[in-house]
Amino acid sequence: MQTTKPHAALLASPGMGHFIPVLELGKRLVSEHGFNATVFVVTTDTSLSQSQLLKKSHPIPKLLDIVLLPPVDISTLINPTTGILAQLAIMMRQALPSLRQAISAMKFCPTALIVDIFGTEAFAISEELNMLKYVFITSTAWFLALTIHLPTLDAKVVEEEHVRNHEPLMIPGCSSVRFEDTFEPVLDRNNQMYIEYIRMGVQMPTADGILVNTWQDLEPKTLGALGDKRKLGWVAQAPVYAVGPLVRPVKPGSSSDVLGWLDMQPQQSVVYVSFGSGGTLSAKQTTELAWGLELSEQRFIWVVRPPVEDDAAAAIFKTGHRSDNTPDFLPDGFLTRNQKKGLVVPMWAPQTEILSHPSVGGFLSHCGWNSTLESIVNGLPMIAWPLYAEQGMNATMLTEDIGVAVRLKSTPPVVVSREEIETTIRQVMEDKGDAIRARAKTLKSSAEKALSKGGSSYNSLSYVANDCEIRLRYIKTKAEG
Ligand code: UDP
Repeated sequence: MQTTKPHAALLASPGMGHFIPVLELGKRLVSEHGFNATVFVVTTDTSLSQSQLLKKSHPIPKLLDIVLLPPVDISTLINPTTGILAQLAIMMRQALPSLRQAISAMKFCPTALIVDIFGTEAFAISEELNMLKYVFITSTAWFLALTIHLPTLDAKVVEEEHVRNHEPLMIPGCSSVRFEDTFEPVLDRNNQMYIEYIRMGVQMPTADGILVNTWQDLEPKTLGALGDKRKLGWVAQAPVYAVGPLVRPVKPGSSSDVLGWLDMQPQQSVVYVSFGSGGTLSAKQTTELAWGLELSEQRFIWVVRPPVEDDAAAAIFKTGHRSDNTPDFLPDGFLTRNQKKGLVVPMWAPQTEILSHPSVGGFLSHCGWNSTLESIVNGLPMIAWPLYAEQGMNATMLTEDIGVAVRLKSTPPVVVSREEIETTIRQVMEDKGDAIRARAKTLKSSAEKALSKGGSSYNSLSYVANDCEIRLRYIKTKAEG
C-alpha cells in the first residue's frame, strides 16, 4: 500500500553542518514539490541537544517529521588517532540497524532515501526496501568532483606526486587542488579516514542521483565537467543535481541581546567572526585574533570558544574568568577596552539572523560551506580563515574563482599574527570592501534566481521529484495489479 504523495526519508549525520542543509532540503521537498518527508538524525549527545534546539526554534512544515535515532556509542570502536571523518563514518555505520528498523516500521515505505556523504552505506537499506537512493553533498561541486575522482586515481601517484612532492591533484575538467588546500584524508592511505573516504567516493556514483548544495551559476565549470562523459561524467555515473543554496532561513520576529546590539550600530559597520559549529583555535592564536580585532578598530561580534591546542575541530567548553569577566583565554581587559565596539558571544550565536542584519558588513569565517552560503545569500564579503576538512578548497574558490573573499596569507599550523589579521579585516571592511561587496550582491541575486520557480536549482529538484513520482506510480500499479 502507498500514499498518493512521494515520501522522502532523509538521513543526516551528526553535526549542525549536515543537519541544517538536510533539513532545508526536506522542507523544500515538502513545501515546493508535494512531498511528505521524514528527517532521520543520527545523534550524539551534542547533536541531540542541537536538533532539539532547532526543532523548537524553527517552523517545521506539517508534513515533515524529525526522528532522532537512538544515540550511538562508538567509544570501543575508536582510538585517539581516529580522525573526525572516520568517527562520523563509524557512527553512521552503527546507526544503520536502527534506521532500518525505523523505516520498516513506517506505515508506508518511503519512495526515496536521501543521505548525506557519511550515509552512503544506507543504500543497502534502500535497495532492500525498493526505494530510490540519493546522496546530498552539503558542500561544493568541486568537493564532490574530488571525492568521486580520487578512487580512480592511482594511489601511488597521489602519494608520490601530491603527498610527497606537493604537486596539485588534477581533476578532469575542474580546477586542481593545491597541496596547501588538500583534504586531510588524502594524506595517508593507511589511515582509516582515507579508507572511509575512498569508500564514499565509490558508493556515491551508485546512487540514482547526486544532489549538491550549490547552483549552476556559482560552479558552472565543475558542474559541466561532472555532466560530461569525456571528463568526470563517466565516474559520476548518476545525474548530478545542483539544488542550492539551501540555507537556514532567518527566524521571523527574532530578538536577542546580540540583535538588539546590532540595531544600534551603523549600517555595514560590524565584522562577524565565527568558526562554525566545531572550529577552535590555539591559545596563542586566540590572543592574536583578539588583538587583531582590537587593532582593526572595527566593530565586531566574535563567537568565541576556549582555545584547544592541536585540534582545529574541537569545540570543548572550558570556563574561567578574569577581573572584568574577560574569559581567561582572552587578553586581560579585552572586554572593557572593547565594550563600545565589540560583542563577545560564548560558544554559539544566531548566525543566520546576524548575517542578515544590515549593520553587518563582513564575515570572518572558517569557510564551512553552510557559513559560506549564508554569507553569499546576504551579499557579504568574507575574510577566509580555513581550518580543516575541505575549507581550504572553499577558501581558494571564494578568493580566486568567485571573488567574494580575501584570504589570510598564513595557514595553520602557522599562527596568524595580529598585524595580518588587522590588515586583512581593514581591507575587507574599508579598502577593497566595496568591490567585493558588489560581487557578493551579484551572487546574492543569482542565488535567488536559481531557487525561484523555473530557476536552475528549482528545476533540478523538480527532476528528482519527477523521478520519485514515477517510482511511486510504478509501485502502486504493481501493488494493485
Ligand atoms: N552556526 C550557528 N551559530 C554558531 C556557529 C554556527 O548558527 O555560533 C551554524 C551556521 O549558521 C551554519 C552551521 O552552524 O549553518 C555551521 O556549518 P558550516 O558548514 O559553516 O561549518 P561546520 O560547523 O560544519 O564546520
